[in-house]
Amino acid sequence: DDDFWHGDDRTGEVKDKDKDKADRATNELVMDQRTRMILLKMISRGIVSEVHGAISTGKEANVYGAVLDPLDGTRPLHRAIKIYKTAILVFKDRERYITGEHRFKRGANKKNNREMVKQWAEKEFRNLKRLHAASIPCPEPLELKSHVLVMEFLGNKRGYAYPRLRDATLSDEGTENPWRPVYIQLLGIMRRLFRVCNLVHADLSEYNILYDKNKLYIIDVSQSVEHEHPRALEFLRMDIKNVGDFFRRKGVDTLQDRAIFDFITA
Ligand code: ATP
Ligand code: MN
Repeated sequence: DDDFWHGDDRTGEVKDKDKDKADRATNELVMDQRTRMILLKMISRGIVSEVHGAISTGKEANVYGAVLDPLDGTRPLHRAIKIYKTAILVFKDRERYITGEHRFKRGANKKNNREMVKQWAEKEFRNLKRLHAASIPCPEPLELKSHVLVMEFLGNKRGYAYPRLRDATLSDEGTENPWRPVYIQLLGIMRRLFRVCNLVHADLSEYNILYDKNKLYIIDVSQSVEHEHPRALEFLRMDIKNVGDFFRRKGVDTLQDRAIFDFITA
């Protein structure tokens, strides 16, 4: 039952091999019993077949690669699984994104904290659905259970994730700065996100955009807020500034932040 842990070539004692393997996987993947149980259930329900190593280990979440072997024998499908961490301290500054009444008091206990993390996962799931429905390139959300979110894998067929925009290398063929059309593409996405999805990303930067073949993909939308959020426009200005700063460093002759704000909201 623990055979789905991959990415570990070390050999252990034969008699304790499985347990050993599971223990090490638990350590390496930093997964608690609850999370393991959710993944096991997903495996038995045929959502994924194998969970692989971490694509990213962050403060708030880890993202793992996974595959689904379709029963009809067609080629395996890649998946990404984002698992939100339930450690308490990490979420302390997230309250500012929550609109309206606070269902969870400060000084959270373990249970409240788990509820909070679940809410974030759910928020990301719903926001991804909205983006997807609006045809904004993003990972298609596939399954959510508690703090475990399964989504489309953004990467090549061999299982390599697309690079973040931060790490992307653009082929420089023409005389024009190759970052310029990418910049224009992103402005269009931001506008669509605002006007069609009614959302502000609120953590938009070269770190939360993936890049492949001149195309941008928006990720990490758990903190995204609706227009109605009292700080939505403040977050939008922040997004615009981050994006502008990045493309200016790439030598793009960017529009003024004010003009972009009007373009997005007008
Ligand atoms: P933290 O803030 O704690 O670092 P995070 O909330 O930023 O975690 P994400 O930004 O959603 O998590 O994802 C982290 C990284 O995982 C991304 O930068 C990207 O490289 C990779 N990643 C996330 N989703 C996918 C996906 N669907 N397909 C491929 N790679 C992904
Ligand atoms: Mn991120």
